[in-house]
Amino acid sequence: GRTVHQIQSGQVIVDLCSVVKELVENSLDAQATSIEVRFKNNGLDTIEVQDNGVGISSENYETIALKHYTSKLSNYDDLSSLQTFGFRGEALSSLCALSKFHVITARADEAPKGTRLDFEASGKLKGIQVIASQRGTTVDVEDLFMNLPVRRRELEKNIKREYGKVLGMLQAYACISTQARISVSNMAKGKKTTVFATKSSQSTRENIANVFGAKALPGLVTMDLNFEMQPTKTYSQLSERENKQVRVLGHVSRPMFGEGRHAPDRQMFFVNTRPCGLPQVAKVFNEVYKSYNISQSPFVFANILLDTNAYDVNVSPDKRTILLHEQNTLLDALRGSLTDLFENQDQ
Ligand code: ADP
Ligand code: MG
Repeated sequence: GRTVHQIQSGQVIVDLCSVVKELVENSLDAQATSIEVRFKNNGLDTIEVQDNGVGISSENYETIALKHYTSKLSNYDDLSSLQTFGFRGEALSSLCALSKFHVITARADEAPKGTRLDFEASGKLKGIQVIASQRGTTVDVEDLFMNLPVRRRELEKNIKREYGKVLGMLQAYACISTQARISVSNMAKGKKTTVFATKSSQSTRENIANVFGAKALPGLVTMDLNFEMQPTKTYSQLSERENKQVRVLGHVSRPMFGEGRHAPDRQMFFVNTRPCGLPQVAKVFNEVYKSYNISQSPFVFANILLDTNAYDVNVSPDKRTILLHEQNTLLDALRGSLTDLFENQDQ
Protein backbone atom coordinates (compact mmCIF):
# COMPACT_ATOMS: atom_id res chain seq x y z
CA GLY A 1 0.00 0.00 0.00
CA ARG A 2 0.84 3.63 0.13
CA THR A 3 2.63 3.54 3.47
CA VAL A 4 5.12 0.98 2.29
CA HIS A 5 5.67 3.01 -0.82
CA GLN A 6 6.37 6.12 1.23
CA ILE A 7 8.88 4.42 3.46
CA GLN A 8 10.79 2.99 0.53
CA SER A 9 10.63 6.35 -1.18
CA GLY A 10 12.65 7.84 1.64
CA GLN A 11 15.72 6.32 0.05
CA VAL A 12 16.27 8.62 -2.87
CA ILE A 13 14.30 11.70 -1.82
CA VAL A 14 15.46 12.55 1.67
CA ASP A 15 15.70 16.33 1.54
CA LEU A 16 15.54 19.39 -0.69
CA CYS A 17 18.96 18.62 -2.13
CA SER A 18 18.00 15.18 -3.33
CA VAL A 19 14.89 16.52 -5.08
CA VAL A 20 16.88 19.09 -7.01
CA LYS A 21 19.72 16.70 -7.74
CA GLU A 22 17.40 14.07 -9.21
CA LEU A 23 15.52 16.59 -11.35
CA VAL A 24 18.63 18.32 -12.69
CA GLU A 25 20.22 14.97 -13.50
CA ASN A 26 17.08 13.92 -15.35
CA SER A 27 17.36 17.10 -17.40
CA LEU A 28 21.02 16.43 -18.15
CA ASP A 29 20.16 12.84 -19.09
CA ALA A 30 17.57 14.28 -21.51
CA GLN A 31 20.37 16.18 -23.27
CA ALA A 32 19.08 19.56 -22.22
CA THR A 33 21.22 22.56 -23.17
CA SER A 34 19.25 24.84 -20.88
CA ILE A 35 18.00 24.11 -17.38
CA GLU A 36 16.09 26.53 -15.20
CA VAL A 37 15.67 25.79 -11.52
CA ARG A 38 13.00 27.93 -9.91
CA PHE A 39 12.26 27.96 -6.21
CA LYS A 40 9.33 29.54 -4.47
CA ASN A 41 9.95 30.48 -0.88
CA ASN A 42 13.35 28.72 -0.94
CA GLY A 43 11.77 25.50 -2.16
CA LEU A 44 9.29 25.29 0.69
CA ASP A 45 6.36 26.13 -1.63
CA THR A 46 7.59 24.85 -4.99
CA ILE A 47 10.63 23.48 -6.74
CA GLU A 48 10.37 23.67 -10.50
CA VAL A 49 12.93 22.40 -12.99
CA GLN A 50 12.43 23.25 -16.64
CA ASP A 51 14.62 21.93 -19.43
CA ASN A 52 14.76 22.03 -23.21
CA GLY A 53 15.71 18.37 -23.50
CA VAL A 54 14.22 15.61 -25.63
CA GLY A 55 10.95 15.43 -23.70
CA ILE A 56 8.96 12.36 -22.72
CA SER A 57 7.40 10.24 -25.42
CA SER A 58 3.71 9.49 -25.08
CA GLU A 59 4.21 5.73 -24.74
CA ASN A 60 6.02 6.44 -21.46
CA TYR A 61 3.37 8.69 -19.88
CA GLU A 62 1.78 5.78 -18.00
CA THR A 63 5.03 4.45 -16.62
CA ILE A 64 7.47 7.26 -15.80
CA ALA A 65 6.23 7.72 -12.25
CA LEU A 66 5.90 4.04 -11.42
CA LYS A 67 8.42 2.65 -9.00
CA HIS A 68 11.53 1.24 -10.66
CA TYR A 69 10.46 2.32 -14.10
CA THR A 70 13.33 3.78 -16.09
CA SER A 71 13.75 4.33 -19.79
CA LYS A 72 17.49 4.52 -19.38
CA LEU A 73 18.91 1.11 -18.65
CA SER A 74 19.05 -1.15 -21.65
CA ASN A 75 21.21 -3.88 -20.20
CA TYR A 76 23.10 -4.73 -17.04
CA ASP A 77 26.47 -3.71 -18.50
CA ASP A 78 25.24 -0.14 -18.55
CA LEU A 79 25.47 -0.14 -14.76
CA SER A 80 29.25 -0.10 -14.77
CA SER A 81 29.83 2.35 -17.58
CA LEU A 82 26.96 4.56 -16.40
CA GLN A 83 26.43 6.92 -19.29
CA THR A 84 23.46 8.54 -17.62
CA PHE A 85 22.91 9.73 -14.08
CA GLY A 86 19.65 7.92 -13.51
CA PHE A 87 18.73 4.29 -13.85
CA ARG A 88 16.90 3.39 -10.67
CA GLY A 89 13.57 4.80 -11.67
CA GLU A 90 12.86 6.06 -8.19
CA ALA A 91 12.88 9.84 -8.31
CA LEU A 92 9.55 10.58 -9.99
CA SER A 93 7.75 7.78 -8.18
CA SER A 94 9.04 9.06 -4.84
CA LEU A 95 8.05 12.62 -5.65
CA CYS A 96 4.50 11.51 -6.43
CA ALA A 97 4.25 10.02 -2.98
CA LEU A 98 5.88 12.98 -1.24
CA SER A 99 4.44 16.10 -2.88
CA LYS A 100 1.87 17.60 -5.19
CA PHE A 101 3.59 16.77 -8.37
CA HIS A 102 3.05 17.29 -12.08
CA VAL A 103 4.99 17.19 -15.32
CA ILE A 104 4.66 19.19 -18.52
CA THR A 105 6.47 17.82 -21.53
CA ALA A 106 6.80 18.25 -25.28
CA ARG A 107 8.96 16.39 -27.79
CA ALA A 108 10.50 18.34 -30.64
CA ASP A 109 7.81 17.21 -33.09
CA GLU A 110 5.00 18.12 -30.67
CA ALA A 111 5.99 21.63 -29.55
CA PRO A 112 4.44 24.20 -29.25
CA LYS A 113 1.85 21.72 -28.12
CA GLY A 114 2.68 19.95 -24.91
CA THR A 115 1.12 17.63 -22.39
CA ARG A 116 0.48 18.08 -18.72
CA LEU A 117 0.62 14.86 -16.72
CA ASP A 118 -0.88 14.46 -13.27
CA PHE A 119 -0.31 11.45 -11.09
CA GLU A 120 -1.74 9.72 -8.08
CA ALA A 121 0.45 9.29 -5.02
CA SER A 122 1.10 5.75 -6.17
CA GLY A 123 2.61 7.03 -9.39
CA LYS A 124 -0.37 5.96 -11.47
CA LEU A 125 -1.19 8.43 -14.23
CA LYS A 126 -4.50 10.13 -13.46
CA GLY A 127 -4.74 13.04 -15.90
CA ILE A 128 -3.55 14.03 -19.36
CA GLN A 129 -4.17 17.52 -20.65
CA VAL A 130 -2.96 19.24 -23.80
CA ILE A 131 -1.37 22.59 -23.03
CA ALA A 132 1.13 24.93 -24.66
CA SER A 133 4.77 24.03 -24.10
CA GLN A 134 8.15 24.55 -25.69
CA ARG A 135 10.24 21.48 -26.40
CA GLY A 136 11.44 19.92 -23.17
CA THR A 137 10.18 18.96 -19.76
CA THR A 138 9.09 20.89 -16.70
CA VAL A 139 8.73 19.09 -13.42
CA ASP A 140 6.87 20.83 -10.65
CA VAL A 141 7.14 19.75 -7.03
CA GLU A 142 4.79 21.50 -4.64
CA ASP A 143 4.61 21.20 -0.84
CA LEU A 144 7.39 18.67 -0.46
CA PHE A 145 6.77 16.18 2.38
CA MET A 146 3.22 17.51 2.82
CA ASN A 147 1.99 14.07 3.88
CA LEU A 148 4.86 13.39 6.29
CA PRO A 149 4.21 16.00 9.02
CA VAL A 150 7.40 15.36 10.98
CA ARG A 151 9.60 15.67 7.94
CA ARG A 152 7.70 18.69 6.69
CA ARG A 153 8.26 20.44 10.02
CA GLU A 154 11.96 19.56 9.90
CA LEU A 155 12.18 21.03 6.42
CA GLU A 156 10.43 24.21 7.51
CA LYS A 157 12.67 24.54 10.52
CA ASN A 158 15.89 24.00 8.58
CA ILE A 159 14.92 25.62 5.30
CA LYS A 160 17.67 28.28 5.39
CA ARG A 161 20.39 25.66 5.76
CA GLU A 162 18.76 23.27 3.30
CA TYR A 163 18.41 25.99 0.72
CA GLY A 164 22.06 26.98 1.20
CA LYS A 165 23.07 23.37 0.66
CA VAL A 166 21.00 23.19 -2.53
CA LEU A 167 22.63 26.33 -3.91
CA GLY A 168 26.06 24.88 -3.18
CA MET A 169 25.17 21.75 -5.10
CA LEU A 170 23.70 23.72 -7.99
CA GLN A 171 26.85 25.82 -8.18
CA ALA A 172 28.77 22.60 -8.78
CA TYR A 173 26.42 21.45 -11.56
CA ALA A 174 26.47 24.91 -13.12
CA CYS A 175 30.28 25.12 -13.11
CA ILE A 176 30.90 21.64 -14.51
CA SER A 177 28.16 21.78 -17.17
CA THR A 178 29.71 23.03 -20.38
CA GLN A 179 26.88 21.58 -22.49
CA ALA A 180 24.00 23.08 -20.55
CA ARG A 181 23.40 26.53 -19.16
CA ILE A 182 21.90 26.43 -15.70
CA SER A 183 20.00 29.25 -14.08
CA VAL A 184 18.65 29.39 -10.58
CA SER A 185 16.03 31.75 -9.22
CA ASN A 186 14.00 32.15 -6.08
CA MET A 187 10.70 33.84 -5.53
CA ALA A 188 10.34 35.05 -1.98
CA LYS A 189 7.95 37.63 -0.55
CA GLY A 190 6.57 38.26 -4.01
CA LYS A 191 9.97 39.13 -5.44
CA LYS A 192 11.91 37.02 -7.92
CA THR A 193 15.68 36.95 -7.58
CA THR A 194 18.10 35.36 -10.01
CA VAL A 195 20.64 33.61 -7.83
CA PHE A 196 23.05 32.85 -10.68
CA ALA A 197 22.98 31.89 -14.33
CA THR A 198 25.59 30.39 -16.61
CA LYS A 199 25.58 30.84 -20.37
CA SER A 200 25.52 28.22 -23.09
CA SER A 201 28.67 26.55 -24.43
CA GLN A 202 31.02 28.02 -21.88
CA SER A 203 34.22 26.68 -20.44
CA THR A 204 34.30 25.69 -16.78
CA ARG A 205 36.36 28.82 -16.18
CA GLU A 206 33.66 31.04 -17.68
CA ASN A 207 31.04 29.13 -15.72
CA ILE A 208 32.95 29.86 -12.52
CA ALA A 209 33.00 33.57 -13.43
CA ASN A 210 29.24 33.49 -14.01
CA VAL A 211 28.52 31.71 -10.77
CA PHE A 212 31.03 33.36 -8.43
CA GLY A 213 31.75 36.62 -10.23
CA ALA A 214 34.63 37.52 -12.58
CA LYS A 215 36.70 38.69 -9.65
CA ALA A 216 37.14 35.08 -8.61
CA LEU A 217 39.31 34.32 -11.65
CA PRO A 218 42.63 36.15 -11.09
CA GLY A 219 43.27 34.20 -7.91
CA LEU A 220 42.88 30.85 -9.64
CA VAL A 221 45.35 28.69 -11.48
CA THR A 222 44.20 26.23 -14.09
CA MET A 223 45.05 22.71 -13.14
CA ASP A 224 45.68 19.81 -15.48
CA LEU A 225 47.43 17.17 -13.45
CA ASN A 226 48.36 13.89 -15.07
CA PHE A 227 49.75 11.02 -13.13
CA GLU A 228 49.81 7.30 -13.03
CA MET A 229 48.80 5.61 -9.82
CA GLN A 230 51.69 3.52 -8.58
CA PRO A 231 49.76 0.32 -8.05
CA THR A 232 50.16 -1.60 -4.85
CA LYS A 233 50.36 -5.37 -5.11
CA THR A 234 46.71 -6.00 -4.28
CA TYR A 235 45.71 -3.25 -6.60
CA SER A 236 47.51 -4.73 -9.59
CA GLN A 237 46.13 -8.16 -8.79
CA LEU A 238 42.62 -6.88 -8.45
CA SER A 239 42.58 -4.73 -11.47
CA GLU A 240 44.70 -5.96 -14.33
CA ARG A 241 42.32 -4.37 -16.77
CA GLU A 242 42.25 -0.93 -15.26
CA ASN A 243 43.90 2.00 -16.85
CA LYS A 244 45.96 3.58 -14.08
CA GLN A 245 46.24 6.96 -15.69
CA VAL A 246 44.56 9.73 -13.73
CA ARG A 247 43.89 13.27 -14.85
CA VAL A 248 42.70 16.05 -12.56
CA LEU A 249 41.27 18.99 -14.43
CA GLY A 250 40.10 22.19 -12.85
CA HIS A 251 40.88 25.41 -11.08
CA VAL A 252 42.41 26.02 -7.70
CA SER A 253 43.49 29.05 -5.64
CA ARG A 254 47.07 30.19 -6.30
CA PRO A 255 48.86 30.13 -2.97
CA MET A 256 51.03 33.12 -3.85
CA PHE A 257 47.97 35.21 -4.57
CA GLY A 258 47.99 35.66 -0.83
CA GLU A 259 45.56 36.10 1.96
CA GLY A 260 43.58 38.85 0.32
CA ARG A 261 42.67 36.83 -2.73
CA HIS A 262 39.19 37.19 -4.11
CA ALA A 263 38.09 33.65 -4.84
CA PRO A 264 35.64 32.36 -2.25
CA ASP A 265 36.70 29.27 -0.36
CA ARG A 266 34.24 27.02 -2.17
CA GLN A 267 35.30 23.47 -2.95
CA MET A 268 33.70 21.31 -5.63
CA PHE A 269 34.74 17.81 -6.54
CA PHE A 270 33.75 15.60 -9.43
CA VAL A 271 34.61 12.11 -10.54
CA ASN A 272 34.35 11.76 -14.29
CA THR A 273 32.32 14.96 -14.33
CA ARG A 274 29.86 13.70 -11.71
CA PRO A 275 29.56 16.01 -8.69
CA CYS A 276 30.36 14.25 -5.44
CA GLY A 277 31.74 14.78 -1.99
CA LEU A 278 35.36 13.63 -1.61
CA PRO A 279 36.50 14.63 1.88
CA GLN A 280 39.83 12.83 1.62
CA VAL A 281 40.67 14.55 -1.65
CA ALA A 282 39.63 17.89 -0.16
CA LYS A 283 42.02 17.25 2.69
CA VAL A 284 44.95 16.89 0.27
CA PHE A 285 44.14 20.22 -1.38
CA ASN A 286 43.78 21.93 1.99
CA GLU A 287 47.04 20.48 3.34
CA VAL A 288 49.15 21.33 0.30
CA TYR A 289 47.69 24.83 0.25
CA LYS A 290 48.22 25.28 3.96
CA SER A 291 51.91 24.43 3.62
CA TYR A 292 52.24 27.94 2.15
CA ASN A 293 51.17 29.33 5.52
CA ILE A 294 47.81 30.54 4.36
CA SER A 295 45.07 30.37 6.92
CA GLN A 296 42.12 30.35 4.53
CA SER A 297 41.23 27.23 2.63
CA PRO A 298 41.51 27.31 -1.16
CA PHE A 299 38.87 27.52 -3.83
CA VAL A 300 38.89 24.12 -5.49
CA PHE A 301 37.12 22.94 -8.61
CA ALA A 302 38.55 19.52 -9.38
CA ASN A 303 37.28 17.01 -11.91
CA ILE A 304 39.06 13.70 -11.42
CA LEU A 305 39.06 11.65 -14.60
CA LEU A 306 39.84 8.01 -14.09
CA ASP A 307 38.97 4.54 -15.25
CA THR A 308 35.36 3.65 -14.44
CA ASN A 309 36.61 0.37 -12.95
CA ALA A 310 38.64 2.30 -10.38
CA TYR A 311 35.67 3.34 -8.23
CA ASP A 312 32.11 2.55 -7.24
CA VAL A 313 29.41 5.18 -7.56
CA ASN A 314 26.36 3.57 -6.13
CA VAL A 315 27.37 2.61 -2.66
CA SER A 316 24.75 4.99 -1.31
CA PRO A 317 21.14 5.14 -2.47
CA ASP A 318 21.43 8.82 -3.37
CA LYS A 319 24.58 8.15 -5.43
CA ARG A 320 26.43 10.98 -3.75
CA THR A 321 29.10 8.78 -2.23
CA ILE A 322 31.94 7.55 -4.37
CA LEU A 323 34.27 4.83 -3.26
CA LEU A 324 37.73 5.06 -4.77
CA HIS A 325 39.24 1.60 -4.79
CA GLU A 326 42.82 2.71 -4.41
CA GLN A 327 42.25 5.91 -2.51
CA ASN A 328 45.57 6.25 -0.71
CA THR A 329 47.58 5.61 -3.84
CA LEU A 330 45.61 8.27 -5.62
CA LEU A 331 45.89 10.75 -2.76
CA ASP A 332 49.69 10.38 -2.60
CA ALA A 333 50.05 10.90 -6.33
CA LEU A 334 47.69 13.87 -6.21
CA ARG A 335 49.63 15.45 -3.33
CA GLY A 336 52.83 15.14 -5.36
CA SER A 337 51.54 16.67 -8.55
CA LEU A 338 49.65 19.43 -6.79
CA THR A 339 52.84 20.41 -4.98
CA ASP A 340 54.66 20.46 -8.34
CA LEU A 341 51.95 22.65 -9.84
CA PHE A 342 52.22 25.22 -7.07
CA GLU A 343 56.05 25.17 -7.12
CA ASN A 344 56.16 25.81 -10.85
CA GLN A 345 53.48 28.48 -10.71
CA ASP A 346 54.78 30.77 -8.13
CA GLN A 347 58.53 31.03 -8.28
P1 ADP B 1 15.53 7.40 -13.82
O1 ADP B 1 16.15 8.75 -14.01
O2 ADP B 1 16.34 6.54 -12.91
O3 ADP B 1 15.18 6.73 -15.12
P2 ADP B 1 13.31 8.86 -12.74
O4 ADP B 1 12.26 8.49 -11.78
O5 ADP B 1 14.22 9.99 -12.39
O6 ADP B 1 14.16 7.56 -13.03
O7 ADP B 1 12.64 9.19 -14.14
C1 ADP B 1 11.79 8.22 -14.72
C2 ADP B 1 11.72 8.38 -16.23
O8 ADP B 1 11.06 9.60 -16.55
C3 ADP B 1 13.07 8.49 -16.92
O9 ADP B 1 13.63 7.22 -17.20
C4 ADP B 1 12.71 9.27 -18.19
O10 ADP B 1 12.19 8.39 -19.16
C5 ADP B 1 11.58 10.18 -17.73
N1 ADP B 1 12.06 11.54 -17.41
C6 ADP B 1 12.17 12.07 -16.17
N2 ADP B 1 12.61 13.34 -16.22
C7 ADP B 1 12.76 13.64 -17.53
C8 ADP B 1 13.19 14.82 -18.26
N3 ADP B 1 13.55 15.94 -17.61
N4 ADP B 1 13.22 14.75 -19.61
C9 ADP B 1 12.87 13.61 -20.26
N5 ADP B 1 12.47 12.48 -19.63
C10 ADP B 1 12.41 12.48 -18.29
MG1 MG C 1 16.34 10.16 -12.62
